[in-house]
Amino acid sequence: SFHKSKGQHILKNPLLVDSIVQKSGIKSTDVILEIGPGTGNLTKKLLEVGKRVIAVEIDARMVLELQRRFQGTPLSSRLQVIQGDVLKTELPYFDICVANIPYQISSPLTFKLLKHQPAFRCAIIMFQREFAMRLVAQPGDKLYCRLTVNTQLLSRVSHLLKVGRNNFRPPPKVDSSVVRLEPRKPPFEVNQNEWDGFLRICFNRKNKTLGSIFRQKSVINLLEKNYKTLQALNLAPAQQGALEDIDDVMDFSDEDIEMNDDGVDDGMEVEDGNAEGEVSEFKKKVLSVLMKAGFEGERSSKLKLQQFLDLLSEFNKDGVHFS
Ligand code: SAM
Repeated sequence: SFHKSKGQHILKNPLLVDSIVQKSGIKSTDVILEIGPGTGNLTKKLLEVGKRVIAVEIDARMVLELQRRFQGTPLSSRLQVIQGDVLKTELPYFDICVANIPYQISSPLTFKLLKHQPAFRCAIIMFQREFAMRLVAQPGDKLYCRLTVNTQLLSRVSHLLKVGRNNFRPPPKVDSSVVRLEPRKPPFEVNQNEWDGFLRICFNRKNKTLGSIFRQKSVINLLEKNYKTLQALNLAPAQQGALEDIDDVMDFSDEDIEMNDDGVDDGMEVEDGNAEGEVSEFKKKVLSVLMKAGFEGERSSKLKLQQFLDLLSEFNKDGVHFS
């Protein structure tokens, strides 16, 4: 029997497996990373076209079944199985990743892969349909969110294939999509902590204007605290475009995603300003950056990746930092 908690939905349609492998563009020299091989329906085809397959599988029963399936066949010498949780496993070198994953690890796995070095050529991954549509969303689309912008900062994303739930046994509750992620080479030069702090604020209310978001007392207070800390240290934060802290910052819980779907004014914001209604010097500075750069009336739901990068860099130039 299958483990629901491990997201075990086996691909039972061989034509679909063929189509995934074909669209992956695997070369005969490729080392392939497969995540969650299960009973090995995809693994078998991957072994036939690639040089080697390294498969990471959490379930000991599946590992056994997989080994039994290829034992004594010529394919077995090119298959390496690692038993373990892919999120806790140090990944080996690979050229390409192909995976039909358990959907509950979609976010952390995506960012684990995208920060992996050396960068691989591409990853072909089955996601829950809505998650996939968030990854490929464009500015102005309903599903455009922080996850979209963060993923597209690190990779080029494209939708490959719609997959109905009946291609799996047992069928999951939702439809799926196969997506291709291609790490950007070279990557954008941004400090990941700055970027993450910045996007969290911008997408805190994605349909509000940035002008109204950056007038919030909580936002101004946070930025002013960073500003004072940095002034005290008389030191700008390291700008090495470091990816090492990405594990901590790239946590997309479902809650984060829900929070982005905001269209209504919940009246919760408090504008910054002291008792006399005066606007602090720091707040003026923040708002003037926003106005000078022309973003005051813009909304995150409609901003392009490059515009986020530009705005962050304008803030940083004026000493406004997000981490
Ligand atoms: N690839 C197979 C197929 O397409 O038929 C099975 C896919 S099934 C959706 C997901 C597989 O991932 C299961 O075999 C499950 O045991 C495994 N799995 C679940 N969580 C995992 C984790 N954290 N690390 C590695 N494998 C995991």
